[in-house]
Amino acid sequence: MQKRVLITGAAGFLGSHLSERFIKEGYHVIGMDNLITGSLSNIEHLFKLENFEYYHHDITKFVHVPGELDYILHFASPASPIDYLNLPIQTLKVGAMGTHNLLGLARVKKARILVASTSEVYGDPLVHPQTEDYWGNVNPIGPRGVYDEAKRYQEAITMAYHNVHQVETRIVRIFNTYGPRMRTNDGRVLPAFMSQAIRGEDLTLFGDGSQTRSFCYVDDLVEGIYRLLLSDYHLPVNIGNPDEITIKQFAEEIQALVNPDIKIAFKPLPKDDPKRRRPNTDRAKSILDWSAKVDRKEGLERTYKYFKTVVK
Ligand code: UDP
Repeated sequence: MQKRVLITGAAGFLGSHLSERFIKEGYHVIGMDNLITGSLSNIEHLFKLENFEYYHHDITKFVHVPGELDYILHFASPASPIDYLNLPIQTLKVGAMGTHNLLGLARVKKARILVASTSEVYGDPLVHPQTEDYWGNVNPIGPRGVYDEAKRYQEAITMAYHNVHQVETRIVRIFNTYGPRMRTNDGRVLPAFMSQAIRGEDLTLFGDGSQTRSFCYVDDLVEGIYRLLLSDYHLPVNIGNPDEITIKQFAEEIQALVNPDIKIAFKPLPKDDPKRRRPNTDRAKSILDWSAKVDRKEGLERTYKYFKTVVK
């Protein structure tokens, strides 16, 4: 029997790549989105396929899917700092009520559910690199609180459904990820720098650029999620590329790749911007035999190819 998987946030950056991957693996994919940050252009090439169907739906309302479901991948949420700053209530609702609805659906369908959590559960971390057993340093009432706390609640209710109702649950903590189909204006650092460089504008570097991130190419992330879903491990697993760089270095790499003539313009650092971030991926290695394979040079070239086609 062909396996059926529901993917929420299917029209988003990660949801669209996951939809493609599961179709390629022979699954029937039911994509769901309300398009507040996603875009049909990310999945329109899938509509002609027999193994893909799409529901326009807001998952904070009761979710109904006809027929059987084997798996649910919950990837619906605004996910860039600008998006969740503009959509704070929707962000809280999708992480809380949306997750609750999907756990209920998983329970009645006897489906396994994987929820997309985030390195933001670690906040501005005091432990470096971040291991899964670190509890985090989050400001609940700061600008990132709406996302961080929604995702922390999401993990809590997911564990509760696992413990109380024996739902098969998986939790992935996703670190900074990049690749084709990121929204050019989502405010995140890669779309911002790529778009600016292509247009010949200054790169807007926030703060002095000494804050660090560790960027994972989307194909690596998708592979990690695929393995985690099929594993029998229910505790959170970090998926990310531990190759850590400063944002200033990142700006210089994009400058060198796209347009060496552009300049860097220093802008104020946003409130509560984490100073350092790097995943400890030992757990992913030992449980999933997974590690990131695509280095930044290769990943940035592939991403640049995409951005050239969409930046106006
Ligand atoms: N950043 C920047 N210029 C931009 C956008 C972001 O210097 O135009 C910085 C931001 O302050 C942060 C890092 O790049 O330190 C990553 O930001 P992003 O919004 O991509 O995600 P975050 O990892 O902070 O959630």
